[in-house]
Amino acid sequence: MSKTIFVDTSRCTACRGCQVACKEWHELPPNDTRQTGSHQNPPDLNPYNFKVVRFSEHLDGDTVRWNFFPDQCRHCEEPPCMMEADEHVKGAVVRDAKTGAVLFTRKTKKLSEAAFEKVRKFCPYNVPRRNPDTGFLVKCTMCNDRVSRGMPPACVKVCPTGTMNFGERADMLALAKKRLQEAKAKFPKAKLMDQDSVNVIYMLIDDPKRYYDCAAAPARGPLDRQQFLAWLVGPLKKSVDTVARG
Ligand code: SF4
Ligand code: SF4
Ligand code: SF4
Repeated sequence: MSKTIFVDTSRCTACRGCQVACKEWHELPPNDTRQTGSHQNPPDLNPYNFKVVRFSEHLDGDTVRWNFFPDQCRHCEEPPCMMEADEHVKGAVVRDAKTGAVLFTRKTKKLSEAAFEKVRKFCPYNVPRRNPDTGFLVKCTMCNDRVSRGMPPACVKVCPTGTMNFGERADMLALAKKRLQEAKAKFPKAKLMDQDSVNVIYMLIDDPKRYYDCAAAPARGPLDRQQFLAWLVGPLKKSVDTVARG
């Protein structure tokens, strides 16, 4: 069974220790950024940030809510990125049978820009990026080098609040359900995101849209290639039908 990360956002203080630990472990260079009025930095995932803690502010009546979302690859059970990449370069994206980690290999360099855009579009969480220096596609690796040696991912190891948890899928699912039950008493909107189809399971305590557009997949449950294509063309088909009907 896969390894799984459970992210309990009700405990996240946005200290960004996980983001820094990820950069350190993978020896990723700094980004050139500038202040844009948000504490979120950098503004998005990029080839040198496999993880970014997203900050989102909202007003509920007179109460200011600040939602924190430590974003990374979800290591999907049936990875749409792998299905699409296989159409172009076999073996560009693989899934480690032992840990369940979804990995971008050196073969991703052979993907054309058009193929890369397709792979990126197929990811329901907008994760894949291309490193301009190497040409490789990059993202969170689930720290497979650490995990395959019995160590937790760097971001889990460093998290001081218990937001990041790691273990066997069954154990993490049990922990997620327990934390959800506890959280519901204080946060009635609390829910687990896409837990049947991913191995990075988030518990949110507010509407997913109030964290980030891609906090939740647009469709629930594992999708096969045909179902995913149907989802992709769905909105397009609908608008064409609407135009046709006048
Ligand atoms: Fe949140 Fe833990 Fe990351 Fe700090 S280290 S930002 S508490 S997930
Ligand atoms: Fe692939 Fe995106 Fe799923 Fe990660 S989240 S395994 S990049 S489809
Ligand atoms: Fe980064 Fe490893 Fe955490 Fe993925 S699992 S976000 S690669 S530290």
